[in-house]
Amino acid sequence: MKELLQHLIRSAPILENGELRAGEVLADFFDRNGIEASLDHWDLTRANVTASIGRKDENAPTLLFGAHLDVVPAAKERWQTDPFCPVEMEGRVIGRGAVDMLGGLCSAAATMVDLSNQPLNGRVIFAATAGEETDSCGVKRFVEQFRSQIKNPIGTIIVEPTGMKILRAHRGILWLNVETFGKTAHGSTPQAGINAILKMNALLNRLQDWQIPHTLHTLLGGCSMSINRITGGSATNIVPDHCSAEIDIRTLPGQDHSEIINDLQDICDNLGKTDPDFKTQISIIRTVDALETPAEKPFVKAVCQATGITETQAAGFTTDGPYFEKLNVPVLIFGPGDGSLCHKPDEYIEIDALEQARQMYNRIVRQIL
Ligand SMILES: [Zn+2]
Repeated sequence: MKELLQHLIRSAPILENGELRAGEVLADFFDRNGIEASLDHWDLTRANVTASIGRKDENAPTLLFGAHLDVVPAAKERWQTDPFCPVEMEGRVIGRGAVDMLGGLCSAAATMVDLSNQPLNGRVIFAATAGEETDSCGVKRFVEQFRSQIKNPIGTIIVEPTGMKILRAHRGILWLNVETFGKTAHGSTPQAGINAILKMNALLNRLQDWQIPHTLHTLLGGCSMSINRITGGSATNIVPDHCSAEIDIRTLPGQDHSEIINDLQDICDNLGKTDPDFKTQISIIRTVDALETPAEKPFVKAVCQATGITETQAAGFTTDGPYFEKLNVPVLIFGPGDGSLCHKPDEYIEIDALEQARQMYNRIVRQIL
């Protein structure tokens, strides 16, 4: 497990490199351990790996492990060690992706090996997918390919680092880019142009009072909106004809992202009614739905029973979970490591935590299948 983790870190599956090398390492691991695995690759460097144990038929009760193969980039100068040369020290493996989430991925992969020769009343599908940190391209592809092959899904465990807490909800992401347009002119004759920054200013003033309708959620709190990036203009002496602002909206389960976009469009349209020069365009940067699995679902109860953990909580981060939900399957997030280390320099995972997760995953599979 530790060796697999170190190999995966060395393969540096950042966006620039893609996941193919990591996928080959993982597929080879399954191969050597006699587990049927498939490496699905596309666009030269992108890859998903799937593996399954237990029954082979489409009607088999199916438990899924969901992991992402990609990791975020690392600024070498901020690390004490080389981020892609894993170091083992004081019971930890240090390296980019150790905690998010190659560690959890290895614990789940080891569980597949542990149970591969055991009689199971169903099957376990392990999916390690591409691009979770950017556009979730891998999980979308996996769901498309497997939708018709999983007729009796029981549950998915996303092995993101939760410090072995069981999480069953997170907010969604709606990242929008709003552009305003104008007409350029010499900076000394602003009356000859239309200043796109001033148009954006009018919009931002409206957005300060924008209340996105929602009802407070007991685990997740409220929906939030924050304008976090603005770009416009090219020089001190040129009237800008373009300005853009990026808005980070975090949504709650049940909130319809397209309604929020329509609301924003209405705000823009209203400004356009009083100002014929007001021209905008809204585009989506990224959208991931919120996740909520009800505590009373049998799958949640079974996982709690198998692990001896009674309390379920919400995650502060988003996951590929909502895509797995499209397989009509309840989703939980449960994995080794300290989530606060994600995306940071000197990211590490405790080797004991990998082993603990492996044992927990073993118990969950045995309990359910
Ligand atoms: Zn992650």
